[in-house]
Amino acid sequence: MNGPGIQLTLAPELRLFAPPSRRAERVPTATDGASSLGHVVESAGVPLTEVGRLLVDGREVPVSYVPQDGQSVEVFGVDRPQRVPGAPLRFLLDVHLGTLARRLRLLGVDAAYENEDIGDPALATRSAAERRVLLSRDRGLLRRREIFAGAYVYSDNPDDQLRDILGRFAPALAPWTRCTACNGPLREADKESVGDRLEHGTHRSYDVFAQCTECERVYWRGAHHARLERIVDEALLEFGTAESGTV
Ligand SMILES: [Zn+2]
Repeated sequence: MNGPGIQLTLAPELRLFAPPSRRAERVPTATDGASSLGHVVESAGVPLTEVGRLLVDGREVPVSYVPQDGQSVEVFGVDRPQRVPGAPLRFLLDVHLGTLARRLRLLGVDAAYENEDIGDPALATRSAAERRVLLSRDRGLLRRREIFAGAYVYSDNPDDQLRDILGRFAPALAPWTRCTACNGPLREADKESVGDRLEHGTHRSYDVFAQCTECERVYWRGAHHARLERIVDEALLEFGTAESGTV
């Protein structure tokens, strides 16, 4: 392509999105003289959800800025913690992130998730309608214009994914207050009210119960909590303290 050329510098953490041949510190990049900087950055492979400040010759500009021949463009990653104005912080996860969704719920973070693949348009529409930050490892999905906000999930390892999202958005943590199965809030429940939903051994052994206000699933503090408690303890240690929930 002939046309104006700029020098494009991506922040180190954004270079993984560029083709391997274009991961140098400063990359000569052709533009057509009419496209916005947002378009140029997306064409370089970087989802705009991952972009923070944009500097042109040292001056901050919006994504709508049209770069001119000879200019030097610096693209920074998002600030951490990232603030998402316009709605309480809530998430929507794509079909590949079920483990991350359950772990966020375990910590009391509102994390909607569809077990079935409802398709990119439906996910994007739900993100917009419910003002949820869409989490995905699919760059094409994050490029959809209609989403409310989005974030690329950098790792395919659930431990790293959780640390990434907690560090990036710093959500308030309230462990044991949300149903890991359906994302509904939990309420305290006593043995009498949930007794007919319990196995006999459970009824005898465990005293602390909670019940989901939406799917009515019953929770109790049992031996199987050890692994989950470790996840909670590690998250609280690194990302803040929280009041303990109902279970
Ligand atoms: Zn539930």
